[in-house]
Amino acid sequence: MIHDSSSFSPEAQQRWDNVSDSVKQKIRANVWCVACRQPMTMINMTGTAEETTLVLRGHCGSCGHTVARVLEDHQ
Ligand SMILES: [Zn+2]
Repeated sequence: MIHDSSSFSPEAQQRWDNVSDSVKQKIRANVWCVACRQPMTMINMTGTAEETTLVLRGHCGSCGHTVARVLEDHQ
């Protein structure tokens, strides 16, 4: 079993908490992996809040390659 842990900065956690669970799941399960050349599930996710975006970084659940996803803050 692949170890999966996530850590968010407090502000990033707050923004992530504003996202509905179904959207969270969709985001996590559809992160493009350049190594697999297809959307994969992100594991070991870390979140950092930047000016207007929430930046998610982690690893491909299949091959372990680094993947990232940027969410625009629409507030
Ligand atoms: Zn991969």
